[in-house]
Amino acid sequence: MTRTQAAAAPETALGLKRRARRMARALAEAHPDAHCELDHKDALQLTVATVLSAQTTDKKVNEVTPILFARYPTAADLAGADREEMEAILKPTGFFRAKTASVMKLGQAIVERFGGEVPRTMAELVSLPGVGRKTANVILGNAFGVPGLTVDTHFQRLVQRFRWTAETDPVKIENVVAELVEKRDWTMFSHRIIFHGRRVCHAKKPACGACTLARLCPSYGLGPTEAAPAAKLLKGPRARDLAAAAGVDPDLVPAAAVAAPDVP
Ligand code: SF4
Repeated sequence: MTRTQAAAAPETALGLKRRARRMARALAEAHPDAHCELDHKDALQLTVATVLSAQTTDKKVNEVTPILFARYPTAADLAGADREEMEAILKPTGFFRAKTASVMKLGQAIVERFGGEVPRTMAELVSLPGVGRKTANVILGNAFGVPGLTVDTHFQRLVQRFRWTAETDPVKIENVVAELVEKRDWTMFSHRIIFHGRRVCHAKKPACGACTLARLCPSYGLGPTEAAPAAKLLKGPRARDLAAAAGVDPDLVPAAAVAAPDVP
């Protein structure tokens, strides 16, 4: 659907499905580097890192997890940690007292109820303290290869801007998107839409004039549509590639944008 068509007639269910598939393909082309931005070597590390990522950036979490996992490599080690020592390690991530308590409880539950191994089903994962559906989908998708949609704040904002759904409840959003995107793509689609939210379609000022989805997006115009101001809003190491892909002169992207700080 083009912007003109969007204004002219309501979109049919089939039309939406086709547009959604095209947008999903455009996201794949725009973000070939999309991946889980939390460093991890196994399911336990990813579970802990995801719990730690609340209210902070993935970059901050990645700074502390190598120290944390070197000191406490197993769920039993996490459960039996010296609280003050773990608090000191987790301090840079903020809310470190609460996070220490959560990680210790998580380790304990994994040991007591699952023999020290992170479980592999949604029902078991969400029974762990501090693990909600979003975290469980991150773990299923990235540690166990089970397709999962990770509906975080970027995901929610973007699918609403795409007018795929007006729902605000994450589970309802998950159900709508599950019908629009092929199951085998769920995990990578989640990474790509979150990358787009962090690098292009920002909460405050989306870079509409430098966005490769513009032609398919009914919210085009929410942010600046001229090339120069839009290019300045792009962020991340591939900001210049993103500009070029959208037909914008990559030289309009300032160096500071390429080295932009991590976005939560
Ligand atoms: S056109 Fe604008 S609102 Fe739509 S996805 Fe791109 S940046 Fe976001």
